[in-house]
Order: sequence, then structure tokens, then C-alpha cells
Amino acid sequence: MANSAYNPYTIAQEQFDKAADILNLDKASRDLLRTPMKEFHFSIPVRMDDGIRRIFKGFRIMHNDARGPAKGGIRFHPHETVDTMRALSMLMSWKTAVADLPLGGGKGGVICDPHDLSLNEQEQICRGWVRQNFKNIGANIDVPAPELMTNAQHMLWMLDEYETITGERQPGFITGKPVGMGGSLGRKEATGYGVMLCVREALKELNIKPSNTTASFQGFGNVAQNAIELYTKMGGKILCVSSWNQQDMEEISFCKEDGIDLLELKKIADPFGGIDKIKAKDLGYQVIAGNEWIKKNVDILVPAAVENQINEDNIELISEKVKIIAEGANSPTNPKVEPRIHTKDIKLIPDLLANSGGAICSYFEQVQSNMNYYWDKNEVFGKLDQKITAAYISISEFAKKNKMNMREAAYIIAVDRVAVACRERGWV
Ligand code: NAD
Repeated sequence: MANSAYNPYTIAQEQFDKAADILNLDKASRDLLRTPMKEFHFSIPVRMDDGIRRIFKGFRIMHNDARGPAKGGIRFHPHETVDTMRALSMLMSWKTAVADLPLGGGKGGVICDPHDLSLNEQEQICRGWVRQNFKNIGANIDVPAPELMTNAQHMLWMLDEYETITGERQPGFITGKPVGMGGSLGRKEATGYGVMLCVREALKELNIKPSNTTASFQGFGNVAQNAIELYTKMGGKILCVSSWNQQDMEEISFCKEDGIDLLELKKIADPFGGIDKIKAKDLGYQVIAGNEWIKKNVDILVPAAVENQINEDNIELISEKVKIIAEGANSPTNPKVEPRIHTKDIKLIPDLLANSGGAICSYFEQVQSNMNYYWDKNEVFGKLDQKITAAYISISEFAKKNKMNMREAAYIIAVDRVAVACRERGWV
């Protein structure tokens, strides 16, 4: 989340500026792409279970839709800020462009903490969000999806509200829906699997077998759990995961030298990816308050929680052994410390690419929903593998050819594609 010292929007703009300089973009293109094209800020009144009315702040930010309808998640978080959403909507424009999807970028959210809300109250927030914003979203305008602390149930409530208002079935209005209710098989796994498909490609380049590697994860939510599943199938061993402890309001790391057991930890995790520390101790985990995950002597680090988690306070804690950092989360690395990561000779797979599996599979869900014809899981995973591997290879080759790192390469490819679309439409 944004705080006084860290503003994700400023960082996103700086990253854009760097790419714009290299591409020598004209002033109009810079002015257009440096800020979102549209912003909607609204209030959502909710009658709470105790009968009292509370007003929640909701947002939808549409950064750019030159390449197609905007696409991006809706977050529920108590520290959500407009600037975080502006930054993330921009990131979505680049992410869809990197994967060469015919989509633009958007992001939305509500300032709230689902931990403190009943299901009924969460449903009212979802329906209220749609009521306040339905004119600005839709299958051919801007398509929302789940994100931090939102899930398939939230998406279905939003879809139901939208269909009630418009009076027609429109499954392509939103993605991340439950399977059988317009959702795509494989969407749940897509972001986490995508992270590991990128790691697989990086390991190929380093000539290392996945089964000879170890990893450590920050976060134990949707992205981390699915990445862990695929990584374990690939033969890798995970020495540590961390999660946010809502009671103590701190990060807690759960480590096991002979490898964590995904299914065992899933059974003692809450729906928000918080792991029960007492039960974990009983299962033989070392339970350590703080960011032990980042200090582990492993080959691969996967930050898969929130922004700004690899920063000036902990960069030097990263072990010499680490060869790959795969950004499962959005913007987990503070740009100030990124040069240090490169001098440590760590291959950094940037968020734009590493967590694009969700956007890719959301696109597949949109396509299936608009056709009302659904593919089997193998078809989805096969297409995901094809798309993300192609994106990985094109970024890696571009980076090598132009002697730059993968984040710079991803930005330049993405910004160029969006700028070309704006130019060809005659916007700049
Ligand atoms: P989630 O809500 O399912 O899980 C988040 C996890 O992070 C939980 O285990 C939580 O305990 C932990 N966490 C939260 N704050 C933390 C902190 N300060 N320190 C340590 N752990 C903390 O979320 P998710 O869907 O897994 O998303 C994780 C990240 O990936 C986010 O940055 C999100 O923007 C990004 N992302 C998600 C998707 C997707 O499809 N879900 C797609 C692209 C990017």
C-alpha cells in the first residue's frame, strides 16, 4: 500500500518515463500514457449486520484501452489508496501488452477489510460497487477480476448485480467467476502456475534442473499456493513461506528444512492465506515472526504478497545462493534496490511477466464467456503455457540483444505496443 515514503504511482510513472525516454516517445504520447485516461471515485452505502449504515470508498481506474477493453482486478484492502490503483491500472496496460493480449489496463477496489465483514456485508459492498459504476464497465468496455482479498464469490455477486441492472446474461462482464457459473477451468491456478512456468524457463537458461532447486515464498494466498503446487510437481523443495497474521498485525514465516507440505499448510490456512501459527508449530514448523523467508539459503525467492517487500531494509539479507527472484506480487521490489539485485547477479523475472498468467487466463475466460463455450483444463493450461513461454522468450531475447535487464525489456516492449495502438487510432 502507499505510504509517505513509498508511492507506487510515482514509481510506476518513473518506470514509464525510463521506457518513454528509450523509445523517444513524443510529448502527446507521454502525456496520454503517464496518467490514467479515466477515474471513477464513489461511495458505497452499506447497511451493516447491526443495522448501522457505513459508507465505503470505491474506485475504478481505467489507464488505457487502445488495444482493447480494459482489464484488471478489484482489491479489498483497508489501506487501499487511489495512487496504488492508478499504478496498478498502468501496470495492467503493460501486462496485457507484454502478453500480447487484445486488452487494455484497469484496476479498482474498495477501502475495507473483509476480515472484519460478514459475508452479507461483503455481498452488499460487491453489489454497491457495481450499482455505482455499472455504466463504466462491461464486456466491451472494462472487465474486472479478483485481486487482493477478493474471490470468485465476490465476482459472482458483482455479475449478478450487473445482470439484474442490465436485464441480460452477460458472463463476459467479469472474470474469475466460479467454474460452472461462467468461470474458466484453470483460472484459479493461472497466476501461480504462470510464475512457475517463467521460473522453469529461467532455470532452462541457467541450465539447472528444477528438481535440484529450493525456494522460499512470501505470502500463502492464491498466487503462492498455486505456484507452490506447480513448483512441487516440477520437483522443487520449498524451505519457507510467510503470511500476514491479522491478530498480531505482523508477518510470520513458517520454515521446514526438509520442505513444507502444501496440503498440510492449506488445511490450517484461512481463506485470506493467513496460516495458523499454533497449529503450524504442532506440525513441526519453525514459526518465526518477521521476514525469515527472505533470508533463506535457497535458489529461488518468490515474493507473492504485497508491494515494496524487497527494499532497503532487507536487500542485504538475501542469500548469495539466490539465483532467481520471480515477482508473483505486483511491484514487490523497490526500484531503489533493484540495481543491487542485478549486481548480485540474480535473474529478476518482473511482475509484468511473472504474474501475467492471471491476466492471460482472464482473457481466456472472457473469450469463453463471450462465446458461452468452455474449454477443458488441459486446453487452458496448454494455451497458458504457450502464451507465457512466448512472452518470456521474447523479453529474455530482447533483453540479451539490447544488453538490458528483463524489467527494462518488458517495459519497452509493452509501452511501445500501447503507444503504437494510440498512434494508429489517431489519439496522439
Ligand atoms: P491473497 O489475498 O490470496 O494472498 C495474499 C497473501 O499475502 C496472504 O497469504 C497474506 O497473508 C499475505 N500477506 C499480505 N500482506 C502481507 C505482508 N505485509 N507480509 C507478508 N505476507 C502478507 O492474494 P493473491 O491473490 O495471492 O495476490 C498476491 C499478490 O499477487 C498481490 O500483490 C496481487 O496484486 C498479485 N497478483 C495476484 C493475481 C491473482 O490472480 N490473484 C494476479 C496478478 C497479481
